[in-house]
Formats: sequence, C-alpha cells, structure tokens
Amino acid sequence: MMRVTFLGATGTVTGSKYLVEIGAQRVLLDCGLFQGYKQLRLRNWERLPIDPAGLDGVILTHAHIDHSGYLPLLVRNGFKGRVYCTPGTQDLCGILLPDSGFLQEQDAAFANRHRTSKHHPALPLYTQEDARVALKHLSPIDYGIEHGFGDFSITFRNAGHILGAASVMIRHGGMSLLFSGDVGRPADPVTLAPEPIGEADHIVVESTYGDRIHDPRDPAEVLADIVNRTAGRGGTLVIPAFAVGRAQMLLYYLARLKAARHIPDLPVYLDSPMAIEASEMLYRHRGEHRLSDADCRALAEVARETPSVAESKAIDANPVPKIVVSASGMATGGRVLHHLRVFASDRRNTILFAGFQAGGTRGAAMIAGAESVKIFGEYVPVRAEVANLDMLSAHADAGELLDWLATCSGTPRSVYVTHGEPAAADALR
Ligand code: ZN
Repeated sequence: MMRVTFLGATGTVTGSKYLVEIGAQRVLLDCGLFQGYKQLRLRNWERLPIDPAGLDGVILTHAHIDHSGYLPLLVRNGFKGRVYCTPGTQDLCGILLPDSGFLQEQDAAFANRHRTSKHHPALPLYTQEDARVALKHLSPIDYGIEHGFGDFSITFRNAGHILGAASVMIRHGGMSLLFSGDVGRPADPVTLAPEPIGEADHIVVESTYGDRIHDPRDPAEVLADIVNRTAGRGGTLVIPAFAVGRAQMLLYYLARLKAARHIPDLPVYLDSPMAIEASEMLYRHRGEHRLSDADCRALAEVARETPSVAESKAIDANPVPKIVVSASGMATGGRVLHHLRVFASDRRNTILFAGFQAGGTRGAAMIAGAESVKIFGEYVPVRAEVANLDMLSAHADAGELLDWLATCSGTPRSVYVTHGEPAAADALR
C-alpha cells in the first residue's frame, strides 16, 4: 500500500511537500518553502503535521527553494536521515540553501532594525549555518538508476525544468507512482525535453500554467524588441530572473542577439553571485542540458559579473543605458530590489519578468499594473515599462503538460493535479 498526504503546493505553486507512506516507511517527497502571500509565508513558521525525526528519508525533485528550502528547518527540527536527489540538484542546493538562509537572516535583521516585527528580537526562519548542516544529508543518485530502499525503489528522470530537475518514479509491490516535479518545456534552448512517462499507475502532476498557453512567438525576437525599444528611449532594462536556470537562458539569448547585431552593444551585467555560480555549473554537468562548451563560454562572456556588493551598487550609480540580470525572479528579495528601487520610477526603463509570478509577490503586482511597489519599507512608483515573457518560463504550458501526460503508456488509474493556483489546477483537471 502506498499512501500520499499533500502537505504543500495545494492551491498554490509553492511549499511542495508530499508525505509518502509505503508499508512502515515514511518519506517526504520535496521539502519546499511557501513563498508569495504573507498568509502562505506564515505557514513556513507553523509546526509540520509530521515529526521530522520519524521520517526515513527525503527525496527532492529539484533545487528551487519552493521544493528544497524547508530542508534546513526539517534537519534542525530532528530529521536524521538521508536526502536523495540528482547530482545536479545536490550542486545547486549547495548554493541555493545557504543563500536562502542568508536572506532569512537579512529579513530578521531588517525587522529588528526597523521594528517591523511583533517579536523582539525577530529570529530568522533558519540561518546559513542551518543550511550548511542540512547539505551534509544530501546523497546523489544519477538519472535513470533504480535505487532500492527496503520495500520500494525510486528512479529519477530528467524533467527538463532546470539543471538536475527530475520526475520521480516510485515503485512498490508491482505498483508505480510518478511525481512530475516541475515539468520543463520540450523545446527550451538550455534544458532537455522532459523524459516520457512510460508506465505509471498513479501520477501527481504540477499545474503552474494549467490554464495558459505560452506566447508562441520566438523569445529571441521578442527580447530583441524589448531591448531595442528600451535602448531607443535611452533607458535601462532590468530583468529579475531566477538565478538558476532563467538567468542562464537570458544570457544565452543576449549573447546570440549581440553576436547577430540584432541588439545594440549595451553593457550586460549578471548581478547575482548565485547566478554566476550556477552558470559555471553548466560545464560540470555536460550532457544534462543542450548547451555546447562554446555556448557556455558565450553566455559567460556576454555579461560582466558583479559578485561584490560594491560592484552591484556601482551599476545603479552609472547613468549609461544597460541590461541588468539579477535575482530574485519574482522580486521577492535579493539584489534586484536595489535596482528596482532605482530604475522602476523612470519611464525610459523597462522591467522584464521572465517566468511565473506567484500571487502576492512584487512581480505579480507589477505585471498586474501596480502603480507602486513597497521596497525596503518605502513605496516606489512604477513608471517604467513592465513586461512578462511567459515563453521564457521554465514550466511547460497547459498544452505541453497534456502532451507530456500523453506519453504515459496506457491509462493511469489516477492523476492528482497539484502545484497550481486554483484556476490553473482546475483548468488542467
Ligand atoms: Zn522549479
């Protein structure tokens, strides 16, 4: 018997956590943080309905924080077992989890400085040190290897979403259960197409874009239009990008557009230490993505990397039109907030979002036409052009999800739709 309890990513795209009970064994599939609306983020502080010490293991589909970011807390609260993931996910968690701890520490420090919390002192959800301790629990398993754990086995398959991302097949006593993880796009320039499903009795599928079809235009052309339009106004283009995955794809397109002289030779900045490291990781995981070594070099060379805070601040002080790629992708934190504070209020500039914007984030508000956004406690007027290129997303759209589901040989006995806001999940159902 397999039993699944949905502890997160229900009615929302964040907080992925599924308790899977197989016989006497209990494993947690994904261990993500809630992000977006404050009511959701507050759920990160609630006690889990399961005892972390009673879990036999954790399985991660990929390194994005909404799938891995609760791990430091799980370990701090008593989890003693191993965390299984692909080698790519292990490498990316090595940069994403400590960064998440750092952001939590910064939030707490901000709350203490400005007395914005009812707790004195406000404490971080977890720290960089908690994240480093959690990383010691990771055990890598390659794609395609069926790995046995007592009564059941797991196999990771490339989900084509970001480096290391996997769908997870769980087999037990002649029954199979597939967790999609986040499903990528079949024709992404960086990631490989998601592997076909094959046989599965039960499927749990994400539905981030369950009610939408991505814009079919060529992303390179649309990006070129935006760069040229912004440059024509003498403005700067700020791109809040997910440091892992989307930042590299944007650089890939910008390198190609520059080489073909389809855009002017504006300075491009990759202002995210995490994105810089993630770009370097592409070399280490050849064969898991579509980029050649020459592509990796081109995307590394197109941008000036600004690892230090002083270099990051210098970008804002320089009035020359430019392109700034910086994290986080939904403008929920990170260095991009400093750039938005400087550039969002000027009509000449453009803020370009590159993927799904969860409800309650600054990204979602700006796309919906908010006249101002609150950054570091102050309202910043939004006068810049705001654009969102869905087609740059690392998620399959509704049609692509259905195509992927159709790779299931035979009809599964059940399909659970998860990881979507209610309208999207219902439309896909
Ligand atoms: Zn993801």
